[in-house]
Amino acid sequence: MQFSDFIGRVNEPQTILMAKKTRELRAQGIQITDLTLGEPDFATPQHIIEAAVTAMHEGYTKYPPVAGYPELRQAVCNKLKTDNNLHYLPEEIMVSTGAKQALANVILSIINPGDEAIIPAPYWVTYASLVALGQGECTFIPCSVDDNFKLSPEKLEAAITPKSRLFIFSSPCNPSGAVYSREELEALKNVFVKYPDIFIISDEIYEYINFKGRHESIAQFPELKERVIIINGFSKGFAMTGWRLGYMAANREIIAACEKFQSQITSGANSITQRAAITALLADKAPSFAMTAAFKERKEYFIAALSNINGIRINDPEGAFYAFPDISAFFGKTDGHTLIQNADDFTMYMLHTGHVAGVSGAAFGDESCIRFSFATDLDTLKEAAEKIKTALGRLH
Ligand code: PLP
Repeated sequence: MQFSDFIGRVNEPQTILMAKKTRELRAQGIQITDLTLGEPDFATPQHIIEAAVTAMHEGYTKYPPVAGYPELRQAVCNKLKTDNNLHYLPEEIMVSTGAKQALANVILSIINPGDEAIIPAPYWVTYASLVALGQGECTFIPCSVDDNFKLSPEKLEAAITPKSRLFIFSSPCNPSGAVYSREELEALKNVFVKYPDIFIISDEIYEYINFKGRHESIAQFPELKERVIIINGFSKGFAMTGWRLGYMAANREIIAACEKFQSQITSGANSITQRAAITALLADKAPSFAMTAAFKERKEYFIAALSNINGIRINDPEGAFYAFPDISAFFGKTDGHTLIQNADDFTMYMLHTGHVAGVSGAAFGDESCIRFSFATDLDTLKEAAEKIKTALGRLH
């Protein structure tokens, strides 16, 4: 069958492919410890579920406004003021079917064929795919465990060309767990002020999963605010992945362009989810903080366990729920059957011989690492650490 060039530019994410492989091996009776998951293992807090049920009974079952219910857009403004000391008006907020759709709206509203998007690597896979859909070109800036996976202002400036149109990053970062401090963001801001044509997409979806303390947004610098697009959502911080709700905060011209796009793609985000999200934002955030405390405990165990394995080099993630060890010391080694030459080989060795599923760093633009999610219980993490150690002990 013949399909469009457009669909030819879309790849299924590696994360989804690995989850599929894991299911296949399990169906053969093999005990796989799955660390591929990109979602909290907790249930959505009860008060949010109840708000959704109430919304249905109250009749919130019709098409909502394309950009979102006014009360929700206002609640997002209040959240940005309270949590981040950022001032936005409701017309500068738009809610979408997940942060993913918010990203699609904005990237496809900004990028023209041939425009460049600068993306520090490792990065969340979808950024590059969406730029490719818009026929833009990605310029990746490699960062590594040696610099805690953070971009320096020098490297940023060296990557900028007259075609640079967009900069996309996440803090806390999926997959590296890097969290930028105010000072580090300010140093990047000092570069961006020299290049007024570059928009900045700041993906803050892991904001609440921060082990370091205060979340900092690059939108806090008044010189940049007009061209920063904050992306955030409910999937990670409120354990609401299946509800599909995200939002963006940006200047109203950007919102207007995105609204036009969204009106033709989805007509807006699910009405019931939106009502529940108002409750999520207005209610006590204790359940979110309890989840973060659990992620922190797991992180401490798992990072210590991985650091003790010879050959693994690892940073201490300051946010999100992923370990991203550098495993390049194992390249060139074999267990007598399988030769490991790169991160993909390592990931397959871990899956088929170690029986632990992770996602190759190559999927995130880093050929030296593997991503293991610690959004799972401590017993599973202990089992995984044992299996990883045993599998790596067989390599020579
Ligand atoms: N941004 C990052 C960095 C993510 O890791 C994810 C999900 O894995 C998303 C955005 C998408 O989130 P949502 O479920 O709101 O579409």
